[in-house]
Amino acid sequence: MANYYLDNEDLQYYMKQGIDWEPIVEITEYGYRAADGHANAAEATQFYEEVAEMLGQFVAEEIAPHVAEIDAEGVRLQDGEAQVPAKLRQIFEQIKDLDLHAMCLPRELGGMNAPMLLYYVNSEVMARADVSTMAHFGFHGGIAMAMLMFSILEGSTEFDNEKLEITKTRFADYIEEIVAGQAWGCMDITEPGAGSDMGALRARGEVDDDGQWTVSGEKIFITSGHGKYHFVIARTEKVENPDDPMSGLRGLSMFLAPTYTEDADGNRVRIAPMERVEEKLGHHGSVTATVNFDRTPAHLIGRRGEGFKHMLTLMNNARIGVGFESLGLCEAAYRKARDYAAQRPSMGKTIDQHEMIADTLDEMVTDIQGIRALAMHAAYHEELSTKIGLVLKFMPPAYEARRAELEEQLKVSRAAGRRVTPLLKYLASEKAVEMGRRCIQIHGGNGYIVEYGAEKLLRDALVMPIYEGTSQIQSLMAMKDTLVGIMKNPQGFVKRLAQCRVRAYSAREPLARRVARIQQVSTGVQQYLITRTASDKFRSLSGKPLTEWPNSFLKNWDPKRDFSCAMLHAERLTRLLADEVICEILLDQAVKHPERADVLERYLERAEPRCAHLQNVITTTGNRLLAKLNSGGGDVV
Ligand SMILES: Cc1cc2nc3c(=O)[nH]c(=O)nc-3n(C[C@H](O)[C@H](O)[C@H](O)COP(=O)(O)OP(=O)(O)OC[C@H]3O[C@@H](n4cnc5c(N)ncnc54)[C@H](O)[C@@H]3O)c2cc1C
Repeated sequence: MANYYLDNEDLQYYMKQGIDWEPIVEITEYGYRAADGHANAAEATQFYEEVAEMLGQFVAEEIAPHVAEIDAEGVRLQDGEAQVPAKLRQIFEQIKDLDLHAMCLPRELGGMNAPMLLYYVNSEVMARADVSTMAHFGFHGGIAMAMLMFSILEGSTEFDNEKLEITKTRFADYIEEIVAGQAWGCMDITEPGAGSDMGALRARGEVDDDGQWTVSGEKIFITSGHGKYHFVIARTEKVENPDDPMSGLRGLSMFLAPTYTEDADGNRVRIAPMERVEEKLGHHGSVTATVNFDRTPAHLIGRRGEGFKHMLTLMNNARIGVGFESLGLCEAAYRKARDYAAQRPSMGKTIDQHEMIADTLDEMVTDIQGIRALAMHAAYHEELSTKIGLVLKFMPPAYEARRAELEEQLKVSRAAGRRVTPLLKYLASEKAVEMGRRCIQIHGGNGYIVEYGAEKLLRDALVMPIYEGTSQIQSLMAMKDTLVGIMKNPQGFVKRLAQCRVRAYSAREPLARRVARIQQVSTGVQQYLITRTASDKFRSLSGKPLTEWPNSFLKNWDPKRDFSCAMLHAERLTRLLADEVICEILLDQAVKHPERADVLERYLERAEPRCAHLQNVITTTGNRLLAKLNSGGGDVV
């Protein structure tokens, strides 16, 4: 079977050329000063490629041939423990032997000190074979990294600044267990009455007179919830104002709770029992558990009340992870559809030669290249901003010039990561569903038959726009960030409007002019939404004394009322913003590597009419429904 990394030219482009590895490697390798580290970026990237190649081979040979069996067998709860397919257990034994759980951890904690970007590349490769295996894999190294990161942030990790290594970290024993493949963790947020609405979470964190914390409450739908180490979000502070969603979020804290111990004979003794393991439409190899915490001893992470902030740190990486997971599934769907279409005859030729099927396949491959560009950009900036933030806080460079350089890069990367992460989660997961369905359609009747494997892809894809924040929640985040950004810096927005207008006519390269026109459409839509938002707000001021206007306009924003038009169109805006940023990234690639112009050209051909359509819908529809919603009268439909 082909190597899942080496058979993917577009993915290799990023490893070899598309990613500017130097800043990532330099910061990961402490400026190449560590005794046992890589000497330069070239040496490091060669190593990363070797790891990707090794994983590509492993996935093709040891995971892909067994996914149908794992999917058919599924997981179940027996005597309070989750039973997973024997084949999956074997795969995880092999992963342990390859030391892959420690890929991104520092060397002094038993890791390879590889960048998160390499982990994400490997995630795509693994998800192409099976998303259940990939998700469970992520809950090993990802949780160990989170333990380390939280300990650094709360100040319970110590460094030797001479040797450039960690000498002590709060959860060292837990990390060691994970690295050795003996344990893994998970992220416990959702409850029966609170999913998207995190302000409604009810699980409690309580502290006794000795300072020992416990958590109590029911957490549902926990992926890999049969694991030992649970990051649990629980309420420690009273909700001051139940009508204000932010008030609910402010009272949350983050805990790390081990859910079982081992007795002298090595048998598991559960502290927090697993009550259910869900039967699901897809992800059959993945455990989705209900866990019951009842005064379960737990470690408070950081300070009380910081839970939402810490959760966002975990979630940012998790959302990028879902982006790569979705990308892997898209790649699988495309390849399966393409290969089937190339050999299935119909009406005198193979179906890939029929115009509609050829068009579908062409759009699939183009979308995949766009999503991959977005995913790499998001992962790159998230990693850079996280690592630079840590270096500036805990190991600031001695030279002022270097410090200033890092501070500047931090600003750029933080803004870029924040801008694109919800766009990636939204677009990649929605496209995974679309491509799963298209793969079935291209297979005709065979697509509906289990044996062909196309239906598994759609079943697996359907949860991607739901977990780690639904598509609607990603859209709200993208919309709010965009509009609030404009409100905070209206002059900057006006400048951007003017710049893309000028570039749309005067840029030297035709492709650059076309990208500027997409930016023009996007900024035009943003201008429309901000004007609507402001005029709705002004309308709400009528009847109030003029003296109250400045205060009421600048403060007291009621998201339900003032942003209603923008909320109605948030998903469309998100789609438009995703096209805009993908075109910008692909243009940048085309400038640096002219052979990439073809990818941009194909993407623009699809994006131009799509963006025009989205602009049309956003600026011409919605008033009837908004009037009905705002009148508060009767059913919406
Ligand atoms: C297989 C699987 C694995 C999971 N793994 C985990 C895990 O590991 N850890 C964990 O904590 N959770 C996990 N979840 C839970 C998942 O994150 C939640 O299901 C998700 O956040 C949605 O919450 P909900 O189910 O309560 O739906 P709701 O929040 O009730 O949402 C229902 C619908 O309403 C929409 N909606 C809600 N609010 C708004 C709004 N303000 N504006 C517009 N639309 C809105 C949503 O987008 C959605 O379409 C998992 C779920 C599944 C199915």
